[in-house]
Amino acid sequence: MSTNNIVVVGAGVTGLTTALLLSKNPANKVTVIAKHMPGDYDIEYASPWAGASYMPFGKKGSDHAEWERATWPALQNLAENQPESGIHFQDITIQNRLKDQNTVTGQWSAELTSANPWFKDFVLNVCDSGYLDPSDPIQRSPALFNQATQFQNLPRDQLPPGIDNAQKFTSVCINPAIYLPWLVSQCMKNGCVFKRASLEHISNAAETHHTGHKADVVVNCTGLASRTLGGVADNQVYPVRGQIMIVRNDPGSMTSISGSDDGGEEVTYIFPRAAGGGTVIGGTYQKDNWDPLPDPNFANRIMQRALKLDPRLVKEGQGVEGLDIVRHGVGLRPARTDGPRIEKDQVNGVRIVHNYGHGGFGYQVSFSCAEKAAGLVTEITQQKDRAKL
Ligand code: FAD
Repeated sequence: MSTNNIVVVGAGVTGLTTALLLSKNPANKVTVIAKHMPGDYDIEYASPWAGASYMPFGKKGSDHAEWERATWPALQNLAENQPESGIHFQDITIQNRLKDQNTVTGQWSAELTSANPWFKDFVLNVCDSGYLDPSDPIQRSPALFNQATQFQNLPRDQLPPGIDNAQKFTSVCINPAIYLPWLVSQCMKNGCVFKRASLEHISNAAETHHTGHKADVVVNCTGLASRTLGGVADNQVYPVRGQIMIVRNDPGSMTSISGSDDGGEEVTYIFPRAAGGGTVIGGTYQKDNWDPLPDPNFANRIMQRALKLDPRLVKEGQGVEGLDIVRHGVGLRPARTDGPRIEKDQVNGVRIVHNYGHGGFGYQVSFSCAEKAAGLVTEITQQKDRAKL
């Protein structure tokens, strides 16, 4: 059996998922190199800051929507059968205000907040149906899933004041502090080797394979850094700043809303993470803003809005002083004007597969985008094998 030497650059959710799928083929010898690894918190590393929930944003019929549809079964399977990965089921309520429809956040979430979204046909409403207690592993079983009720629009008389429509379904919430190391462990089980390195140029990655041999293929999963990395320098890539905080309070389920009265780039979402990860409260959606520091004014407004959106966050009679803050943070979503770039390339004679530019949806498209990238790697390695014959 001929072997394929592959270097994956980047250890965010994109690089790790791509490495995991590639390493399932024993012919692939995979090295993962990255400037930042799970455990690090840095403004150049988006993945640890994510919520991370599954809330489809892709427009009906788009590649984006298809990637979200195709990633759901993998996330559902992990929540159901491998809770040690740091993923759990959570009900989510999504509220929409028509007055947000022309704002940045309203447009970002237009598909998600519509009363008749494409994903309503496959997401379930498991927790609410009474069939499944997501915190009880004994109750998790596919049979119970089959009996769960579907996505539901809330009746008008149950809508909070100022809300034009709202929907509820069972999503997942991923705790990146558990999930990213779990992905590393799964990759290592399959023989992947991890190395710290910071590259100036993407073609230099070909010299970093753990065998000492030149890599046959380099996979570029450097997220926002693809804007400046030598040999890529993609000026379509830009940051969308997200300010968040993590609190110890737990409201019991997830909530999100289309916008706020604090400006078109401010929004509110509340995601209780799996496995004691606390609750993430956001946030902002600020295009082309590189500020790495939490802004106390934003933080104050985020807390006020969160309590309004879900008063269950604090005890009755409490205000924001009832929030028990673990940390404030900022992450930069690695967005790209034309959407994610997943394609083959050749730079300085090195065969490259790109997989970057997943904006605010990197987790919820992770498996399908990684599968596409892995398919392109296979096309290159098969070409190499044919050339040897
Ligand atoms: P990153 O995680 O940024 O990883 C890039 C990797 O490349 C790092 O390891 C870095 O060190 C490495 N690298 C970069 N340059 C170099 C170099 N020169 N040499 C070597 N290595 C290099 N997504 C969801 O699906 N659901 C959500 O609910 C969600 N919420 C979010 C909330 C916030 C506040 C933010 C900021 C993001 C959110 N996202 C969410 C989006 C998600 O976090 C990103 O799409 C995803 O993390 C991008 O992952 P990545 O692996 O492509 O990039």
